[in-house]
Amino acid sequence: MQNIIHKNIDPQSVILPPAMLGMLGGGQLGRFFVIAAHEMGYRVTVLDPDANSPAGKIADVHICAAFDDKEALKAMASACEAISTEFENVPADTLSFLAQTTSVRPSAQSVAIAQHRVSEKNFLKESGLPVAPYVVINAEADVPDDASDIYPAILKVARFGYDGKGQARVKNLEEAQLAYSQFSREECVLEKMLKLDYEVSVVLARDAHGNVATFPTSENSHLNGILDVSIVPARGSDAVSYQAQKLAISVAEKLNYTGVMGVEFFVCNGELLVNEIAPRPHNSGHYTIDACVTNQFEQQVRVMTGLPLGSSRQHSSAVMVNLLGDVWPTDATGAQTEPDWLKAFNNAQLKMHLYGKHEARAGRKMGHYTVINASRDEAIKQAMQIRVELNIGS
Ligand code: ADP
Ligand code: MG
Repeated sequence: MQNIIHKNIDPQSVILPPAMLGMLGGGQLGRFFVIAAHEMGYRVTVLDPDANSPAGKIADVHICAAFDDKEALKAMASACEAISTEFENVPADTLSFLAQTTSVRPSAQSVAIAQHRVSEKNFLKESGLPVAPYVVINAEADVPDDASDIYPAILKVARFGYDGKGQARVKNLEEAQLAYSQFSREECVLEKMLKLDYEVSVVLARDAHGNVATFPTSENSHLNGILDVSIVPARGSDAVSYQAQKLAISVAEKLNYTGVMGVEFFVCNGELLVNEIAPRPHNSGHYTIDACVTNQFEQQVRVMTGLPLGSSRQHSSAVMVNLLGDVWPTDATGAQTEPDWLKAFNNAQLKMHLYGKHEARAGRKMGHYTVINASRDEAIKQAMQIRVELNIGS
């Protein structure tokens, strides 16, 4: 699945180092992009309204402005030879505006679909891809009554939801209507609550010529709707993992997608359902930094510059564990202190990644670590030991 055939690479249009690349968004995904681009010899301009953004702090240039600030966007477009995004909710208009003068990947069109749950679900369904049963809610009258087999269900706001935010679990009409009003009657999707066997995701890169490189399928577990642990390669059926790769490629092709994307799946009664599409590198693909020949952020650089895709071959089994703000302890005075990092660093197979965020808030992604090992079982064992020592999930 991971083999790629390079066709149509055009040496004339490739953007080579030390060109300036642009990144919309300054979070950890942007920070890893900056690191990858710097390693390859590129310079990076990051646009993010937060003066302390993790990526802005290490970029060559940080334009500290809103995502719809036209003057800032003009400055970015004139400074950069190609632009991409790490922020799923970047206004699609911003991407279209930049695309008038600069190469922008992924396109405004594909980001617009992925950032809106209704258009995303409708796109998937119309493309013949399997999804969980859902109903679009635009008014109270759209909420199905108690006779509907959609219940128990999850109400999800169409826009700006992430890490389980903007979601409510509801058992009946009354609860669904209450949740809908609590979400200020914003457009929502009401989705059947499924009994999941497990969850997987596939990260892939697709270039402007349609060449695709998929990373191995990741098995993901979540805590409170937030990714907790990724195990790669996924356990469970190889046929399911293979099918996930095929479906992810199909999603990318049907979107005519150019860039790096993550596709999340539910495995339910042995069948795959597409959960959602992330039009950017994905948290479940962080293992690629330490366990693959090319990581997902280098792939992002390669796609936007027109370089051939790198090999996505995984050389070690990997287990990634997210470090949320909850892991940061407080001392007797209530002041925040640091976790006992030495407990983690004592493991020689561990790769630590802390994002340099100032304030450790509950549920906030502060970092992650990956344990790599020739044996997947050994990687799982060691990653779980460290997880216990750092009091994660307790
Ligand atoms: P987010 O954008 O916050 O990642 P998701 O729709 O992916 O939102 O939901 C987060 C997690 O909640 C999923 O990874 C899954 O664990 C759980 N979840 C979401 N929808 C369903 C569903 N229909 N049935 C069962 N679990 C679900
Ligand atoms: Mg998700």
